[in-house]
Amino acid sequence: SKEDVQAFLKKNAFVLFTVGAVIVGIGLGFALRPYKMTYREMKYFSFPGELLMRMLQMLVLPLLVSSLITGMAALDSKASGKMGMRAVIYYMTTTFIAVFIGILIVLIIHPGKGSKVEFGKQQKIEQISPADAFLDLIRNMFPPNLVQACTQQFKTKYGKRVVHVTVTVNDSLFNSTNGTLEVMEITREEVIPVPGQVNGVNALGLVVFSMCFGLIIGNMKEQGQLLRDFFDGLNEAIMRLVAIIMWYAPIGILFLIAGKIVEMDDLTEMGGQLGMYTITVIIGLLIHGVIILPTLYFAITRQNPFVFIAGILQALITALGTSSSSATLPVTFKCLEENNKIDKRITRFVLPVGATINMDGTALYEALAAIFIAQVNNMEMNFGQIITISITATAASIGAAGIPQAGLVTMVIVLTSVGLPTDDITLIIAVDWFLDRLRTTTNVLGDSIGAGIVEFLSRHELRSKDVEMGNSVLEE
Ligand code: ASP
Repeated sequence: SKEDVQAFLKKNAFVLFTVGAVIVGIGLGFALRPYKMTYREMKYFSFPGELLMRMLQMLVLPLLVSSLITGMAALDSKASGKMGMRAVIYYMTTTFIAVFIGILIVLIIHPGKGSKVEFGKQQKIEQISPADAFLDLIRNMFPPNLVQACTQQFKTKYGKRVVHVTVTVNDSLFNSTNGTLEVMEITREEVIPVPGQVNGVNALGLVVFSMCFGLIIGNMKEQGQLLRDFFDGLNEAIMRLVAIIMWYAPIGILFLIAGKIVEMDDLTEMGGQLGMYTITVIIGLLIHGVIILPTLYFAITRQNPFVFIAGILQALITALGTSSSSATLPVTFKCLEENNKIDKRITRFVLPVGATINMDGTALYEALAAIFIAQVNNMEMNFGQIITISITATAASIGAAGIPQAGLVTMVIVLTSVGLPTDDITLIIAVDWFLDRLRTTTNVLGDSIGAGIVEFLSRHELRSKDVEMGNSVLEE
């Protein structure tokens, strides 16, 4: 009936707007491509999208800190220890499964044809050893200066680099002349983010600090009351800001997507190998996101995983639009708490950690891309090397910040660990902006399903805590 339709539209307005925004964004983007906008016009055009990105990022820091502190303070150390264990086991298991799928699929499809496109002069990326990378990861957990951890953009040799490549391909059409033809020259400057940094913020360090701090003020009895109230209030205020930004989100997403489509390079020259690689990544991510994670969710909770996923659709689309799991964090919170009714004590605790360290899509991608690069170079990876790749890909996904294309940087760790040329990262840069969006979506999906699973497994602790606090306990 008419009322039903109205009720449905009202209830799902956000989701409908957001899905609509994606469709219109894609359409608009392709419609405007033939006009060949100048760089400045493109920047003007994507401005509404840039604004959304900035608004979300603005909230990440206070949200991350206040939710973790209140989340930890609300649990006693025994309960949080148990939940923490469950979360960590979930993160590790799913990340390893993701890596396994990535490796399996790239070995089966074998997109790299061993016919490396000749690359001309290019700037060398300085090599780092896996040990250095691990130490850096641990170092970032303990920022010497908290204020700096919130603001400083670390100086790094990976901060900025100019990629200048000349691609020369064999061209059979013209081989009557001299066999090769120079087809194009690409010069671009890219700012490459640093592992562990979100928009200049050392997220990992803040996560560690906030967790310890929350745990301690949770145990402080009356003396801690003021602090607990303060962070509780801060968290609530930030979530209300999120609610306002959500209204703007569809517009932002529309322009983020349209802008990216307008500005992307023509990929037609890049040839079949890169196309096969892209398809391989997509298949791997789909297997993980559409089959493995939902099955795991169902196996543990006995509830329909796709109803759960429908509840977080808006977060998934935001991930697709922003290609940043950190920027998506505010939306993930809203979706899980409001649509999927996940207990706040769980979301506050597992989501910020998940967005920082649990990246299934990134792990899958890094392992897959490393083996693809090996294939392109005609190097067969032996079993030991494949194990090394799985371990370093896991570490690299933990170290990758939840910001656009962070995974591309931490891939240096994976490549160096098995002696693959790090310069070959340039081979896949052209499609990374796109694959980045897909792996970010997988990352957010993994964090959300993790929240669902940890909540289910922790229902007894949550319940007994409710009884102890005299909260009303819902019937199971
Ligand atoms: N962009 C991804 C994320 O934010 C990280 C990556 O580059 O893989 O989750």
